[in-house]
Amino acid sequence: MVLIQLCLYGQAFAVPDTTVTAVAPNAMHKLAGAITYQTVSAVAPGNADARAFLGLHQYLEDAFPALHNQLQKKVVNKYSLLYTWPGKDHTLKPVLLSAHLDVVPVEEATKDEWQHQPFKGIVQDGYIWGRGAMDDKYRVVAMMEAVEQLVLEGYQPERTLYLAFGHDEETGGKSGAGEIAAYLQAQGVQLEAVFDEGLAVADKIVPGIAEPIAFIGTAAKGNLNLLLTVKGEGGHSSVPPKDSPIFTLSAAINRLHNHPFEPHMTPATRETVELLADKIGGKYRFVMRHYGLFKGRVLKKLTRDQATDALVRTQMAPTILEAGQKENVMPRLATAVLNVRILTGETQQTVLAHVLKTIDDERVQVEVSGLYTPPSPVTSTDTWTYKALAHAIGETFPEVTAVVPALFPGSTDSKHYSGLTDNIYRFAPQVVTRQSAKLVHNVNERLSVEVFGKCIVFYNHLIRSTCGSVANEVAIRQEKALQREE
Ligand SMILES: [Zn+2]
Repeated sequence: MVLIQLCLYGQAFAVPDTTVTAVAPNAMHKLAGAITYQTVSAVAPGNADARAFLGLHQYLEDAFPALHNQLQKKVVNKYSLLYTWPGKDHTLKPVLLSAHLDVVPVEEATKDEWQHQPFKGIVQDGYIWGRGAMDDKYRVVAMMEAVEQLVLEGYQPERTLYLAFGHDEETGGKSGAGEIAAYLQAQGVQLEAVFDEGLAVADKIVPGIAEPIAFIGTAAKGNLNLLLTVKGEGGHSSVPPKDSPIFTLSAAINRLHNHPFEPHMTPATRETVELLADKIGGKYRFVMRHYGLFKGRVLKKLTRDQATDALVRTQMAPTILEAGQKENVMPRLATAVLNVRILTGETQQTVLAHVLKTIDDERVQVEVSGLYTPPSPVTSTDTWTYKALAHAIGETFPEVTAVVPALFPGSTDSKHYSGLTDNIYRFAPQVVTRQSAKLVHNVNERLSVEVFGKCIVFYNHLIRSTCGSVANEVAIRQEKALQREE
């Protein structure tokens, strides 16, 4: 298994029909234009948001005329989009590329820190600037640009391709991707594979590994929000009661901080560790190669780094705190939202049990708030679609020395498609460094023009290798068989 995946880039991957034309020079301006629509994610979009989404729909129609001429467009639940490019062979299961039209809001307090206004859509200094440049409008535009070029070349897919763009991924995706999935289900569609955002090409992110490695999210953590509430008597702050809700709630949060979930190795992360063993330098190579013998040490090493700690632990993060409105009034209520990212093997029940036991204070009410997403199943890497994805990565990012499956610590729209296929891959065609990773959902979000060009090339390769001629598919399957024999 290890060899099969790591040897992929040592040799030419003989898939015919994958010449990719150069990226159109105005593609970056198409992305910049898409950024100017303030499609801020909302559970129920208000009037201004609705106008932004509908404006973006029209903009995309104008920016990609060939695509709109060739593909069928369906607006789902008013703001989401589903494009269908019918394949010549209806017996083949379709492939779905998923991205999202919505973006997270720009915090009022940070507006002055932006070098260029977040919804201006500026191209400068080799970057496309603005909210959505890294999450996730660049993928929407890159996919559409790749299809636009293919249509203009006269390309026709064998296998049906869907482009699915939800409008509320950042708020759970239920009314966007959730409705798209329900529509496809009602049509009796079963998918060959879903390709969504997720992990990326990591450049010097994994401690001890200098070479760029492409990580494909073959599993995702679960997501649960807990609302912690403490009630008090209120009153004047000059004669404060002993147990103010703020003290009680703070103490509870502090206890949670000091008693994290125990780390443990899941089968998906164990596979990642074993595949990375050859890439890692220094004394840890031996330790990671013999994971079975040094389990404790490997786990300890992984928990030391923020990026890898998330792979071996259910994590709790307090994200919203509310209490008090006036300086001299004791609040009658203090609340906190605890966002919990759940590792494979845990459930809502086990998380609640840990939280309640740790807080151990009857004054703190704990309740589940909003939707619970359980940890995803693990997608097999022993599929031709995984191989096709690895091929597209290798063609686009020749500097990548290995493609490695891994747990994705976040949550994406892909969870809504789990009833339509077992093959869900979470990979964003970006090269991410520790520094650039911090720009997602942050001030000065921007994407380099060069990387954006690669995104378009990547989707061109991915579409050709998954929806292309049967000869392509056979080549991919045979390549796999050959590598198995080696
Ligand atoms: Zn996203």
